[in-house]
Amino acid sequence: MREELDTKLVADYPELYRDRFAPMNQTAMCWGFSCGDGWYRIIDALSAALVGPHRRAKKDLEYWTENLGKQAWRGREGTQEDIDKAQKKFDETPCPVAVQVKEKFGTLRFYVHGATDAQYNYIEFAELMSARTCEICGEHGQTYPIGWNQTLCDKHADEEYGEEAAEYRNKTGQWADEGDE
Ligand SMILES: [Zn+2]
Repeated sequence: MREELDTKLVADYPELYRDRFAPMNQTAMCWGFSCGDGWYRIIDALSAALVGPHRRAKKDLEYWTENLGKQAWRGREGTQEDIDKAQKKFDETPCPVAVQVKEKFGTLRFYVHGATDAQYNYIEFAELMSARTCEICGEHGQTYPIGWNQTLCDKHADEEYGEEAAEYRNKTGQWADEGDE
């Protein structure tokens, strides 16, 4: 992925990509986003889904901590109970850390530590979307099981594979969704 997009993801979601520049004996994130620009929007949306609830919970906790004993939400006083509830929510909504983001067998692989089951569901959805999205340009695509598997739109598949592309056209997802790991 080109540097500009890599930089934007790290700037927009620093919590998730906090190991982006950590040493390679700690994380594979040091290699950056090892896939094409066409998947930027998928990774951006996934990052928002992984980070958003965590940020909201953090904000709520800060709010109630600041407003203990003060006129707060809807004019009532913030209580210790509000803080405890916000703390519980915050604890249940951790922000995972990305440890590797790459293309493999034509689809996105997004590895994290510290994710909840709900967060793993978002990741699975993003990986399925990548099997339907051209890795080069982001248009609708399909995974071609030719050579190294690649997920490409019609135009980029024709450029890459020539006439062979037509043979596999419109068999979307057939290979990509058959679990390979
Ligand atoms: Zn394309």
